[in-house]
Amino acid sequence: MASIFTMIVRGEIPCHRVHEDDKHFAFLDINPITRGHTLVIPKREVDQLFDLEPDELAELWTCAQVIAKAMKTATKCARVVTCVMGYEVPHVHIHLIPTNELEDFPIPPRGTLDPADADAVTAAIRQHL
Ligand code: 5GP
Repeated sequence: MASIFTMIVRGEIPCHRVHEDDKHFAFLDINPITRGHTLVIPKREVDQLFDLEPDELAELWTCAQVIAKAMKTATKCARVVTCVMGYEVPHVHIHLIPTNELEDFPIPPRGTLDPADADAVTAAIRQHL
């Protein structure tokens, strides 16, 4: 079954299209965090960002860069922030969110790095590189 974003690309579900080329599609998020919140997707259906091929990943971010610059000019925001989650829709999408202050897209509460665990998790990650 096609993802909801593939259905949007196909025109089966309406959207406000910001950009389209042969490999990418960008459209307004239906539940925007701020005005202009845009999603940039590869047309190829892949669930997780880092499962894209390296050239696909680079091209997707280059596309997002062009769109983010246009958004910054259009919305006159201070910063376009970005995140990639995918817990709701398993089709890669980069969130581009115009912001003027941290409160526009607050980060969750953070802890303090525990040196003992930092050593362990660093070693665990390095082991797989
Ligand atoms: P995530 O998967 O990164 O957690 O979030 C998915 C995002 O897709 C959400 O911000 C949600 O508002 C957006 N979204 C989900 N369904 C639709 C849709 O049918 N149309 C549009 N334009 N956005 C959608």
